[in-house]
Amino acid sequence: MSVCPVCLSPGGTVSACGCNALLHAECLAKLVDHKYKRCKVCLVNYTDSALLASARYRLATEPTLHHLLAFVTHATNAGQHELAQSMLRVLPIDSLPASSKIHYHYERGRVQVLVGRQAEAEASFLQTLAMLQKGARVNPQHKALTLVGLASVLIDQRKFSMSAHYLCAAIQLTEQLRACVAERVMRTVARYFLELGNSHRYVMALRAVNDIVRAEEVDPVRRATVLLELRVGEAAIGECTVDASFGNALRLVRASHRHVDILQKGANVMSQRIKLERRLRIKTHPEEIIRM
Ligand SMILES: [Zn+2]
Ligand SMILES: [Zn+2]
Repeated sequence: MSVCPVCLSPGGTVSACGCNALLHAECLAKLVDHKYKRCKVCLVNYTDSALLASARYRLATEPTLHHLLAFVTHATNAGQHELAQSMLRVLPIDSLPASSKIHYHYERGRVQVLVGRQAEAEASFLQTLAMLQKGARVNPQHKALTLVGLASVLIDQRKFSMSAHYLCAAIQLTEQLRACVAERVMRTVARYFLELGNSHRYVMALRAVNDIVRAEEVDPVRRATVLLELRVGEAAIGECTVDASFGNALRLVRASHRHVDILQKGANVMSQRIKLERRLRIKTHPEEIIRM
């Protein structure tokens, strides 16, 4: 069996010079760090493809990956999907450690949602979920966000019963969730009912969202948006205008998300009126809403 000439153990994959030996990408990277350009035994320069393998290994080390994946997250949040996609293409998926691989698939799912590739996003989120469940300790926030991402792309594809399945799983985690994550779960439940055309349950779900966002940690702009949506929903049901004008009113509220400065002013006034709660408390248990 071939032994890596650097660390003297087997398992190398990189043929780097004129010798028959296979090096570990990690070991070659160390040689490159020390400015070695050629093999000391056969005096042949390291091949370009071997140097590429060592560069990929370097890219996949923890601190670098952390920065690269954070970059993808922020690019996606800012709606810059081309930047996010180009960075994801650069990442060496085959040599990522497990935790980064999970993060990678999750971010890939989010970018695919952004570019309208729902089926691919579904596959990415499913992969994230499978990898999360393989781990010894599952972070409930990560699991809930993945379930919600999955439920959301299933709603986009009108696969409602599958979506309900993942939403229920996310709801089971509610008690362990931070308010901002619980809000995302309940918001997706609301969207599920909206798309199903069940406006009464949509408003119920929004009421639960409204209860959740009273927690102190939630951004005042988000709080104001939820309250606006809730009022619009309630008014529409009260006036029995749940069809066309309901949809129009909601579109208006959604559009107002873009005018953050206006919303911010409203939020400042509103947060003085809303009695903030330090701890997350949900009056209506979300499960009751979806199971009724
Ligand atoms: Zn080695
Ligand atoms: Zn050699």
